[in-house]
Amino acid sequence: MAPNKTADVIGAGLAGLTAATALAQRGWSVRLHERESEIRAIGAGIYVWGNGLATLEALGLYDQAAVGAHVGQVLESRDHRDRVVEEIPINGPGQARVLTIMRDRLIDTLIGGAKEAGVEIRTGSEVVEAAPDGSLVLRSGETSRADAVLAADGVNSRIRRQYDVVAHRASMKQGATRLTVPRSADFVPAEDQGKYIEYFSGRRRVLYTPSSETSLYVALVADEDDRPASRIPVDTASWIRSFPHLEKLLSACAGVPGRWDTFQFHTLTRWSMGRLAFLGDSAHPQPPYLGQGGGCAMMSALGLADALSGSDAPVDQRLRDWEYAERPTVEHTQRWSYRLGQLNYVPDAARTPLLKGSGLLPALGASRMRAARTIPTGAGRFAGSAPAGS
Ligand SMILES: Cc1cc2nc3c(=O)[nH]c(=O)nc-3n(C[C@H](O)[C@H](O)[C@H](O)COP(=O)(O)OP(=O)(O)OC[C@H]3O[C@@H](n4cnc5c(N)ncnc54)[C@H](O)[C@@H]3O)c2cc1C
Repeated sequence: MAPNKTADVIGAGLAGLTAATALAQRGWSVRLHERESEIRAIGAGIYVWGNGLATLEALGLYDQAAVGAHVGQVLESRDHRDRVVEEIPINGPGQARVLTIMRDRLIDTLIGGAKEAGVEIRTGSEVVEAAPDGSLVLRSGETSRADAVLAADGVNSRIRRQYDVVAHRASMKQGATRLTVPRSADFVPAEDQGKYIEYFSGRRRVLYTPSSETSLYVALVADEDDRPASRIPVDTASWIRSFPHLEKLLSACAGVPGRWDTFQFHTLTRWSMGRLAFLGDSAHPQPPYLGQGGGCAMMSALGLADALSGSDAPVDQRLRDWEYAERPTVEHTQRWSYRLGQLNYVPDAARTPLLKGSGLLPALGASRMRAARTIPTGAGRFAGSAPAGS
């Protein structure tokens, strides 16, 4: 019997955990290296759109991930006077699917799936070098060689920085504070409580996201140089001045532990070199205006496992085939999430007429849904049904 193919996966985020599990489920021997002493979820809640949901289903993990998740019926954008600018119905027949979930629940589910599939998870295992011949070097000095090495080590990827592969980098100059507060009937009117709502005011946005029966994920988005906006703990007085109609919600953010992250965007000249591939945010980070960075990472990781397992071609060829299949959808999504970020720079008075008058809204809606409606390679049989959850 031929020996199993081997993979070293670098980084246990959404991309690395998905790729490792999908490969192990396809008979590969997989070692997953995480530099931290434990695998941690970063952020508060997360939107998982159809492509991410279909990936979870293909891994056999959807039911666990969806326990307690929130399934909204509409996604709304509102202007500075709390008037609805855009409304996208979701989760109904023929509509895009999305659920929102706490990040630690999603990561814990993926860790469980990886263990079940037989992935060897090594925490405290920092990779300092990886090469196109499949070799890598750990901080401990240990070396290893595998049939494939997947660098899923995040947006500041050390491994990617060893190679001259960045084709284009855009400076976003925007970021967000993410935090979780207990849900409360006081925050928004009763008819809005189950919705996903993005509020605009000047160059700031507030994202209201129920993520379980009891938890509300709040994102406070602003320019990087808007010092009061990026302060931790949250400068609630400053935020209430921008969003007086959200006073109760913003007051509840006072003193709550949160995390400020700046947004990043780059594309690569290529996603692989020989047996080494770049995956997830290492390859294609995007600002979170479509809630698709993680969905694209998971979708593409599943596609990678399928490409590596689906033919007898050499590994380098399979990795090129994978990039050819996945890249158009991922880069389309990156471009649109970048464009949506530019809406922050449009004055309040001009934003709504610009969106409505230019006919941008239908285009935005359709583009927002493109990756969400993409069925990841190997997950076709799961497409279409609305998610179940709270
Ligand atoms: C404000 C904000 C909101 C977002 N909202 C959404 C959303 O709603 N929906 C969505 O789909 N996406 C969202 N995203 C994007 C999403 O979070 C990312 O795209 C996704 O988490 C990327 O996963 P990853 O596995 O590629 O990288 P990461 O999650 O960064 O994982 C990388 C892992 O590699 C480890 N590591 C790094 N270097 C090494 C090394 N040398 N050796 C070993 N291990 C290493 C790190 O410790 C880490 O665990 C959002 C992002 C932001 C900033």
